[in-house]
Amino acid sequence: MSTFPIVIIGAGPAGIATAIEAINRGYKSEDIVIIERFGEVAYMISSKYPDEKPILANYKGRMAACIGDMCITDMTKKEFFDYLNEVITKYKLKIEFHQQVTQITKLRNGQFNVATKEDTYTCDVVFVAIGNMAAPRNLGVPIDPKISDKIHYDIQNIKAEQRCVLVVGGGDSSAEYTKILTERGHSVVLSYRGSSFTRMIEQNAKNTQSLVDEKKIHYLSESLIERIDAKDSSSVVYFKDEKYPPLIVSVVVVALGTERPTNYLNTLGISTKTETGEFFSESSMKGLFFVGDLASGKSGGSINFAFNSGVKAVSEACDMHLDCPLPAYRKAG
Ligand SMILES: Cc1cc2nc3c(=O)[nH]c(=O)nc-3n(C[C@H](O)[C@H](O)[C@H](O)COP(=O)(O)OP(=O)(O)OC[C@H]3O[C@@H](n4cnc5c(N)ncnc54)[C@H](O)[C@@H]3O)c2cc1C
Repeated sequence: MSTFPIVIIGAGPAGIATAIEAINRGYKSEDIVIIERFGEVAYMISSKYPDEKPILANYKGRMAACIGDMCITDMTKKEFFDYLNEVITKYKLKIEFHQQVTQITKLRNGQFNVATKEDTYTCDVVFVAIGNMAAPRNLGVPIDPKISDKIHYDIQNIKAEQRCVLVVGGGDSSAEYTKILTERGHSVVLSYRGSSFTRMIEQNAKNTQSLVDEKKIHYLSESLIERIDAKDSSSVVYFKDEKYPPLIVSVVVVALGTERPTNYLNTLGISTKTETGEFFSESSMKGLFFVGDLASGKSGGSINFAFNSGVKAVSEACDMHLDCPLPAYRKAG
């Protein structure tokens, strides 16, 4: 059993920014532990973003007005990880890798016990920063189990020999996947239930429309998938509208966004029933805060939003539950 004033679950952008802000408010790095399920920081970004993907500061058109120390501008994936690692080293953050939280219990004295299989941490406040990316939205149609390994939710494991790829979705991820896969030499079909690319940021909509106009991709506008069957080692995709005949592809990439990991949060003992609106931070369990994607409400998160939410959540925690040694940091000017 270990005791820390502050436990942060998840070492992604939100978890790291929360730790930095707590240090800016006077805590020492030894007062804070970050519990990370996988073996590296920001594992979801590391494992789900294609290496060629540009990291956009104003993702989904959200303006990047950073309120704390952490902030990104448009950059490459490598530059992003160099930045995170530099900050982690500078602030000597303590991160426990390969630990998954199994239970969070509020104690009678107001503290929490955060249990993993390996250890139990007692603390005054908990920041939950596990993001939404581990829970991609699925197609919700019957899929032959024989080809379940041909259904992907990112493009990290698409092999060069898997020539024909169906990308499903109409948002920024589908635009980026379509562009990158085409550049990698795949033959890409894009299926979207809408007709025009209004859910993408301007640049992605322009790129996708150019690929359609130049006939570099095949675009199935207003198409709804009915089911996916197996045929030898390929997938046969059936559409609801007869104007689209069955399509044989090597793999399907589902890019329909992510969902809140409500089941997992409930398993931990965290109720998610009272959350409403565009932004929320403290959960119904007083002293337990959501940060990053988990606090982003309906409009969804971004990296700079995650950084900012860490600052806001620490500020709320200092006001209500912690005896923070220093006042809130104010940027000069
Ligand atoms: C395809 C795609 C492209 C995107 N592109 C951009 C972009 O260009 N620019 C931008 O600003 N945003 C982009 N986003 C959104 C951005 O990635 C997220 O909003 C941001 O990463 C959220 O940060 P977070 O810290 O809340 O969660 P995450 O980045 O998901 O980090 C969560 C961390 O918690 C860990 N974790 C998960 N479960 C557990 C658990 N049970 N116990 C312990 N640790 C756990 C994870 O391994 C991870 O390290 C994109 C998202 C997607 C899906």
